[in-house]
Amino acid sequence: MAVSRYTLSCKSGWVPSNHEKYERFKDTLMHGEDWGMGLKYFAMYWINLGYLGGVKRLYSPMFENGPSPMIEDGQLYHAERNLLDHLVLQLSALRWDSVRGLVILQNASPCSRCSREYKDKLGAIARNGVPVTIVFSSFYNIRRPSCVKDSHSHLSDILEEQSFSHLQELKNLKAANILLETTELKDWKRLREALQLPNTFNEEVYRLSARKREDDALKEDLRLLMR
Ligand SMILES: [Zn+2]
Ligand SMILES: [Zn+2]
Repeated sequence: MAVSRYTLSCKSGWVPSNHEKYERFKDTLMHGEDWGMGLKYFAMYWINLGYLGGVKRLYSPMFENGPSPMIEDGQLYHAERNLLDHLVLQLSALRWDSVRGLVILQNASPCSRCSREYKDKLGAIARNGVPVTIVFSSFYNIRRPSCVKDSHSHLSDILEEQSFSHLQELKNLKAANILLETTELKDWKRLREALQLPNTFNEEVYRLSARKREDDALKEDLRLLMR
């Protein structure tokens, strides 16, 4: 029997609840935080399906890199790989003309390798006019303009050439008609819905939170980086 990559990558003692996944997704990888080890990368998607009179969202499960991610070619298995396997199968089972849009939500921007895989697997859909959007809540090893401006010491952890290649592949995604966005209020609400959590998102609390300040900074950094 074939064992899916997803099952393998999630082999660990700790099975987080949906609430824990939401909190981790929202509150980890924030700027200035010590990233540490363990389960920290998350990705999920939803497909907007058109029906008579409306659009229905088809949510995927949450994919993780796992606390002990599999290693392939000397590199860690990223959550995006599991997501893409699932997504490609899902799309093949759907009526093409019912797909109105595809959104991928992840807590770090795709690395150069995952960006290339996204472009290979999703470029055709985007070219066919289906809006494909990747939303992320932190930059993966990219030197953020806001950090450079303020001479943050952690920039020494990110090599120039690494940062350049991750950013270049993000630009290639954009050139392939795949939209890039950073998280904002609507995405946090959507994430709660996707994880079937109670609809108790407090907009006032969000507006005053560190998450909101980070979301604003990310948005401006993305704008500057993609110019
Ligand atoms: Zn990756
Ligand atoms: Zn910084």
